[in-house]
Amino acid sequence: MFLLAPGNPKQLNERAQWFKTEAARKLAADFDVQFGFELKGAPENITEAPPLFWGYHLSDYFATEWYYHPNERQELFKRIVHLSKLKPNYLNFHGIHLWYKPDEMGKMERYINHSDSEEYLKVLDSNIEFVKELKKILPETRITMECYPLHAYYTKNGEFLLETYLYTGSGRLNDLLYLKEKAGIEILLDIEHLILTLNFLNRERNYKDVPVIKIENPSEITKKLYEIFGFYIKEGYYPYVDQKVDLAQTIKNFDAKIYHLTGSVQEIIPGVRNNAHAPIEINDPVFRTNLRMILVQKPEAMLVETADSTVNPCFSHLRSNETEISFDNLCRILLEELKR
Ligand SMILES: [Zn+2]
Ligand SMILES: [Zn+2]
Repeated sequence: MFLLAPGNPKQLNERAQWFKTEAARKLAADFDVQFGFELKGAPENITEAPPLFWGYHLSDYFATEWYYHPNERQELFKRIVHLSKLKPNYLNFHGIHLWYKPDEMGKMERYINHSDSEEYLKVLDSNIEFVKELKKILPETRITMECYPLHAYYTKNGEFLLETYLYTGSGRLNDLLYLKEKAGIEILLDIEHLILTLNFLNRERNYKDVPVIKIENPSEITKKLYEIFGFYIKEGYYPYVDQKVDLAQTIKNFDAKIYHLTGSVQEIIPGVRNNAHAPIEINDPVFRTNLRMILVQKPEAMLVETADSTVNPCFSHLRSNETEISFDNLCRILLEELKR
């Protein structure tokens, strides 16, 4: 198993020190854990391959830009063509998002879906086409598609506000299984993103007040989208499920080999703080339970994706070395968990 640190090319030397702590060395010696990186940032800056296991995360909007701007597709792919020579162990992307931002800040209506059913089918087809193009230029690379939550943040001057709205597209839930089959992607399971999606669909935590208004006499296309996505989605309705979606069952169904880990179970604590990408704490029982479910799936790689105070003003409550601390905490936790 590989434990991965996140970073851009400039941070690698410094972050390689994280692999030399007492806990990391013991993990390597006792459990054959190895280390590596998931790189982010402009692809132009990825000019050499780290001498370890490594993946590259395309920018959040890469596939979305491709979808909305057909005349820029060649240009987009030109930016990553050199990666095929660098041979990353995997290339990760977020599915195509539907760019819709409701005006209704502060009102429940901001969680109503505004895209029509045909557009969801179109987005799925486009994802298949996108992956096909990606595989043409990176034929030897594992392509992973990451599960993505059903929300985005309102922002002000680039700072995330403590309020979210419905943000849909692809890679939201079971459509990943559909795309695994149809597009040949591997699923990358970001445990925080999955929990947040389920919070919304199960109407839990900060989404407990979002109404469930059931679609009467669902049409064939609504039923089809339900089959694919695992939740009801129709224009003018709040996305919903009939039956609670179970986290443990979804982890099993996805059967992912690469994971993103954080300590979050809720992206905002309303009126208090942005709690996304929260630190991994040694004695967090929820994190331990989730980690055990992941370990059962025999993961090949796990990335620590904690935020720190330098990422965005909304994370100013975190320390500047928060990710390093979480990485060390995860090493310590694994020393206990792998012994069990
Ligand atoms: Zn991601
Ligand atoms: Zn992630």
